[in-house]
Amino acid sequence: MTASHGQTGLRYALTLVSLPALLACGLMIAPLQVDHWSYHLQFVIALATTIWCVRLVFRSSYPRTLILALAISLGLWTLGVATLLVQIDLLHSLVDMTNYTYLLFVGYGVPLLYVAVAFGDPYSSRWQKMLDASLLVLLGLLYWVSIVDVLDAHGSLSPTSLWYVRHALDAVNVFLAVAHVARWLTASSVASRRFFRITSVYLVGYVVCIGIHNHADMESVGVSFMSILGDVLPPVPFIALALMLHHWRNAPSEAAASGSGVLQRIALGVSPILFLLAIFAVGLSIDGRRTGQVLLIVGLAMVAYILRTVHVQYHYVQAQDRLQGMTRALERLSYTDAVTDLPNRRAFDHAFVREWAASARVPDGMSLLMIDIDRFKDYNDLYGHQAGDHCLRTVARLIAGTLHRPADFCGRYGGEEFVILLPGTQLAGAEVVACRILERIHTANLPYATGIDGRVTVSIGVSARNATDVQAESLMERADRNLYRAKGRGRNQWDASDTGL
Ligand code: GH3
Ligand code: MG
Ligand code: MG
Repeated sequence: MTASHGQTGLRYALTLVSLPALLACGLMIAPLQVDHWSYHLQFVIALATTIWCVRLVFRSSYPRTLILALAISLGLWTLGVATLLVQIDLLHSLVDMTNYTYLLFVGYGVPLLYVAVAFGDPYSSRWQKMLDASLLVLLGLLYWVSIVDVLDAHGSLSPTSLWYVRHALDAVNVFLAVAHVARWLTASSVASRRFFRITSVYLVGYVVCIGIHNHADMESVGVSFMSILGDVLPPVPFIALALMLHHWRNAPSEAAASGSGVLQRIALGVSPILFLLAIFAVGLSIDGRRTGQVLLIVGLAMVAYILRTVHVQYHYVQAQDRLQGMTRALERLSYTDAVTDLPNRRAFDHAFVREWAASARVPDGMSLLMIDIDRFKDYNDLYGHQAGDHCLRTVARLIAGTLHRPADFCGRYGGEEFVILLPGTQLAGAEVVACRILERIHTANLPYATGIDGRVTVSIGVSARNATDVQAESLMERADRNLYRAKGRGRNQWDASDTGL
């Protein structure tokens, strides 16, 4: 770690502990006067973090949607503390948590849950996102029912209901923290990995600090170590969050997130059902008096989830079909020569291996023709490469047109060379095909001013498999040798003199 890194770390650490430490001192010296300061401090820190976060939404170096969701969450939480302050300072109520406070503290989790579950899934369509959002709304509705469920006759939360409320909040907070840690570990982009790492640290800190706050308040009487801790801790995750967001700006660039492919796929697969599980969990926690409402919401959630599953399945099948079509098209492309549209060298290599193996078991074996356009370099020099390509295409079409059997193979070997495989054909048959090719090209009379007879011509080397051939290469080598013999003898002819016997 460099000196400047060390100094920055120290500054962050001091900022993180100074405010809570001051508050702790105040609480120990004058507990009664300082008691409600903790809520004020929480409010100020949460408000400052919210404002800071809103500013970051407009900075291009931060992922806008994710930061916006965080800002909305923090805003709702700040409003939640504000309702607490109104209750305590203005209304002097003994029950500090109203149903509105509770709703805001739960609502705070909604944008955070949404980004953890539904954001950044590259395969998610608009319909899926809308169904996820509707599941989220149903979850919010169910929480509302759960709040109404614990209201007393006067419409406020009774002290006995607080037990339920605090545990429900714990559950929400743990659920959020787990969802964000899962996203951090499986993030596929640098920005989302950084964001979810920050929110994970923040949310885990939040679970611990707010948990201690809620339970210390409930379980301790008078001033105790736990009650001081409970008052001091809540601002800590917010300060830490602001510092981590501040550090983001100066953080060194990270290597692209590699993540684990398997973990990512599991996370993407499991995410959608988290909403449903949350809905079931909240539904089960609600009193029997509200069975009708709970059943309606859970039923609607099931319908939304089923629609989502059907949609995903439909698109999966559609994507599979498209993928298969694309794979076939790509395969075709990878075996086709772009200039002549004939099978290319790769296709020939495969066909040659296949036919060589098959020809071992047929009495007529197989033959091979190597065809080379005569003086094609000069043709290019004379007419240009575009005319050369056009000539190649024409010659390719003429050569392919001389073959009649379905098993015959004609491909571009490379440059201005073509190759023909004739399965189940002996040398005599191959010579007939070679004659036919020469004749077809001759009669096509493709003009070539300085060519043989003033036209485009080809030379052909012919070879046929014989009993002594052990390797396919020998067939190729003989065809090649015969081709150069044909060239040497003046071109525009075929040669099969090297039979290998
Ligand atoms: P030979 O009669 O001895 O076969 O002479 P050649 O000029 O045909 O033979 P060489 O191997 O010297 O030249 C082959 C030429 O074919 C080189 C290049 O100009 C041309 N050629 C190879 N591939 C292509 C192609 O895809 N398009 C075009 N236009 N020309 C090509
Ligand atoms: Mg050549
Ligand atoms: Mg040539």
